[in-house]
This record gives sequence, C-alpha cells and structure tokens, in this order.
Amino acid sequence: MSKYIFVTGGVVSSLGKGIASASIGKLLESRGLKVTIIKCDPYINVDPGTMNPFQHGEVYVTEDGAETDLDLGHYERYTNAKLTKDNNITTGKIYYSVISKEREGYYLGKTVQIIPHITDEIKNSIKKVAYQQRSDVVIVEIGGTVGDIEGLPFLEAIRQMKLELGRDYSINIHLTLVPFIKSAGELKTKPTQHSVGRLREIGISPDIILCRTEKRLKKETKEKIALFCNVDREAVIPALDVKSIYEVPVSLRKEGLDQLIVRFLHLKCDDGDLSNWENKVLKRLKHSTKQVPIAVVGKYITLQDAYKSIYEALTHGAIANGVRLVIKRIDSEDIEKKGVLKYLKGVSGILIPGGFGHRGIEGKIKAAKFARENNIPFFGICLGMQVAVIEFARGVCDLRGANSTEFNKNTKYPVISLLEEQKDIKAKGATMRLGAYECKLSKGTKAYNSYKKEKIFERHRHRYEFNNVYKETLSNNGLIFSGFYKKGNLVEIVELNTHPWFIACQFHPEFKSKPDESHPLFRDFIKAAGSCKGS
Ligand code: GLN
Repeated sequence: MSKYIFVTGGVVSSLGKGIASASIGKLLESRGLKVTIIKCDPYINVDPGTMNPFQHGEVYVTEDGAETDLDLGHYERYTNAKLTKDNNITTGKIYYSVISKEREGYYLGKTVQIIPHITDEIKNSIKKVAYQQRSDVVIVEIGGTVGDIEGLPFLEAIRQMKLELGRDYSINIHLTLVPFIKSAGELKTKPTQHSVGRLREIGISPDIILCRTEKRLKKETKEKIALFCNVDREAVIPALDVKSIYEVPVSLRKEGLDQLIVRFLHLKCDDGDLSNWENKVLKRLKHSTKQVPIAVVGKYITLQDAYKSIYEALTHGAIANGVRLVIKRIDSEDIEKKGVLKYLKGVSGILIPGGFGHRGIEGKIKAAKFARENNIPFFGICLGMQVAVIEFARGVCDLRGANSTEFNKNTKYPVISLLEEQKDIKAKGATMRLGAYECKLSKGTKAYNSYKKEKIFERHRHRYEFNNVYKETLSNNGLIFSGFYKKGNLVEIVELNTHPWFIACQFHPEFKSKPDESHPLFRDFIKAAGSCKGS
C-alpha cells in the first residue's frame, strides 16, 4: 500500500512548493523508494492548455500528451517518476467528471454535493495514481495557499485521507515563509503561526513545517514555531534560500527532512546518497567559469515562468559542457522596432522557443536570419522551427512572403500549414498534436550525431506542420530534413550542414532534459555556442 505526503503552502505563493515536492521525491528515490508526484490545481480550467502564459507560465506536456502545470516539469527533472495525465488534477477535471456522471445517472436519487461527491472524486483520482503507478510514496502537492476559497475541497479531501490512512501512512508537510524584518533585525514567526492556524481550522495538523527563510533559524525560533504550531521541534525544518534550485534536495537532506519522513512513515529503505547529483550537477554549476551568452528570442520574455523548461534545459546543456550559461531574454517585438544588432550582437547562440499567434513573428524571423547568415549556433523549437523554415524559404529560396497560414491565411507560399485533419477542429482544449511521437533520424546528420540512434521519441504541442509541397524546393536550396514522423509523413527536424550548428525541431526536447542528463540537442547546442566567438 502506498504512503502519502501531502504538501501544502501558506503565507504567500511562489515559495517553491513545486521544487520542495520534487526535492522530497528526489530524496526518497535516492533511498531506493519508488515515488510519484501529483499536482492538484484548484482552478476551474480542465487543464492549463487554454491559458495565456502570462496567467499560468509554461504548459508542460507529458509523454501521454497531457497539457499540465509546469510543476510536473520539476517533478520529472528531479525524479524518474513517469508522469501521466492523471498526475495533474484540477478542479475543472474533477467537476467535469462529477457532472458527467450525474448526467449519466450515476448518483441517481442523490443531491450531488461538494462533500462527499467532489471530495470523493478528488480522493479517488489521487488513489488511482497511487494504484496505477505502484509507488511506495505518493507526494501530493496542493496548489495555491491555505486560505484560498478554491483550495478548500482539496484540503478537505486530504483531511479525510489523513484520517482514513492514519499517521503511519500519511503526513502533511506545510511550507511557509519566515520573513526577515530588517528594521527589527529579526526573523518573524507570526505568519507561519497564522497559516498553520488556518490549516488547523480545516482540521489538518501539519506533521512537518518547512520554513522558507533567507537567514538561518536560531534554536529559539524553531522552538517557538514548534510550540505555537503544535509540532515536534525537530519537525521544524529550515528551507534556506540557495543559489540554484538544484541545491534544494541537498540542503533539505542536511536539515534531516528525508530522515524525518522515513521515520514518520515507517519507510523501509536505504540511507540514501546524493553524491552523484552533487558531483554531476552541483559541483559543475559552482565551478564553471567560462561564460556562454545565449539569446532566447520570444514573446513572453518578461515572465520568468513562460519558458521554464527551455531555461532549465539550457542550464543542463551548460552543466554537461562545464560552462556558465548567461541567458539574454529578448522580446522579438523589440527586434522588430530597433533591429537585430542592438540585441543580438555578441551572443554565442540564439534559441527561438515555441509560441502562438502573430505578434512578434517578424522579429523572430530576423533573429533566425541573423543566426544563419552570421554562423551563430541556432536552435529553433516548435514555432522556432516554423520560423526557421519561413526565413529559409524567404531568404534562400526567394519565396517572397512565405509564411505559416497561422499568421497569413492567404500567403502565396504556405510553407507551414494545417493538416487536413486539423482544419475542421473548432474546440481549443486538448486538440493539438500532443505528446510523444516516434521520430526517425537520418544517418550522417547533425541530429543523428547528437542522439546517436535512429529512433527517438519526443513530445509535441502544436497544430501547424511543415508543408511537404515545399520539401523539394527547400531541399534543393540546401535545407536538410533530418527527422521524420514516418506514419504521418511529417517533417520533425531541419538543419543546415553549411553552418556550425543550425537545428530546428517541431517537437519540444526541453521537456525531456534533466540536470544530470542533458538532452543531447541542448548539450550540443551549448557545445557549439561555447566554441562560437560571438556574433
Ligand atoms: N503556433 C504553432 C503551432 O500551433 C507552434 C506551437 C508551439 O510552438 N508550441 O503549430
């Protein structure tokens, strides 16, 4: 039977519950346990696929094609858990299911209510994952902050689960903030006391309090939190600010978090060892000095979270090459207004990530042209590949005005267009080409040399595709088609062999990169950028 760790958050959002949950997963995995992690999101959207990145940040795509919360990205980067659509539970999904059942007559005769019907649905969705993924430990992160109206059904569900399972099978870890007040020169425990108070009003007593803080917690501070929050003193664990998110597992282990979890849940496991992670990830992060400036040219540049997996995968590439990544976030609309040189001069690599809609496209096309003409390593991802193809068609093949039909329905040269089966789709939710597809690589290409195998699986999230009508023209002009989804006769990767490193792919490799196992394309992109003298 699986054991459960419910992770809640208090005081403010953005304390790093996702990283904390992923780190707990990492710590338990390092002790030989099988873990899975679930994210519960209290919003009413069925999934984040229809949300603007400004609202939600990146949409992370799982192998089975679910559009999920970006925290699932952290879970997959830190652990070996194979996450599916069931690992992200939203209020929207829960209500959708309950209302569909009600229409089918499942609850016949009953008044359908939040308690027990919605809470039962939440509990069953959590237990389903535990059962399907046969995990020793299921970590359940509840999104939002204690006190939010939307989160109440989830908290009630975990209260019931805790009661049913008992302390040996379930614990609650509550992450709070212990702020340092400069004028008083002190760390303050009151916000933690209040947020634990809110939890206890709902009927949940935390077993461990994880205190996010910028200064070390003194013995007396820990004692005070323990006393007022009704937990053991050793169960007040500091989560001290660290330079890199990848230090968190090591830092929490030093504070004894995993040992405590093992004891509370009576887990049978090894002592655990993070030396591999420390050597392969942390030491390299710390000791790399050579700087490699990479420009990420996108539309949601001001938002930290919009290209989360891209930034992480670039970091992994830098770790693999022992160099220090310097990311320059560039808004493609600025390039449109002020020209490429102002923004791209001096960079050693240019990456264009995924995106939707017309705004900023011409700036991205200019950036791709600049990379191609100046031999600057270029990596195009999803929309980035489509942009690279449009630019090549216009700039090299003289197909003036070439475009994607996403941006110009009447373009004379629709080098990127919709497949027939996409043309009649009106609904926006979960209707793109989503999830992992097989891609066959052509031997002798840069892509093949990176992966060193012919058959790969990569994740997708897009509607538009390369238009095969233009394959011959582009190929005659030097564009190499190096990866294909054979069944659908679709182009997956294009590259140039007259350029130090120019690869663009229709899929999203960033979703499969890990800090201790960089994705081969990110590794080789950074390698090429490392030997580029800068534009
Ligand atoms: N907008 C493009 C499409 O739908 C690219 C999508 C993406 O970059 N994820 O095909």
